[in-house]
Amino acid sequence: MFCGNCGTKLPEGAKFCGSCGTSTEPAQHVNPEPQVNTAPNQSQQQAAPPPYQQGYAPPPPPPQATTYYAPSNTEPLRVGQYILMFILLSIPIVGFILTLVWAFGGSVNLNKKNYARAVLILAVIGIVLSILFGAAILSAILGMLNSLSYSLY
Ligand SMILES: [Zn+2]
Repeated sequence: MFCGNCGTKLPEGAKFCGSCGTSTEPAQHVNPEPQVNTAPNQSQQQAAPPPYQQGYAPPPPPPQATTYYAPSNTEPLRVGQYILMFILLSIPIVGFILTLVWAFGGSVNLNKKNYARAVLILAVIGIVLSILFGAAILSAILGMLNSLSYSLY
């Protein structure tokens, strides 16, 4: 056993160094204790992240909140709602107006809104195609009439 301060050899169990007077016990205990203290500190630092993660946890709830009041417009339509929707759409003028309202309305169920937009897009495509076909058929008929009139004269 040696003195931690001056290195003088000490008798076993001596509490103080005979040459420099340094206490041997505190010197032996001071070194282990910081190691013991650093271990709890590390465990505290490891225990500290959870509150930090809990600090991170609150941000996710807002997205959950957005998904909470979104379902009112995005939840799937029930069968009865679909039946009612098709019955309303089958009414000639009311159906067209409702389609416009549903397609551009603010608080309309997404399914109904997307369906109404699809109906409108298909209607526009149908109108354009019918105009193109109608023009083609008209020109063909006019061409035939012209050729007939030429053959008559
Ligand atoms: Zn000493």
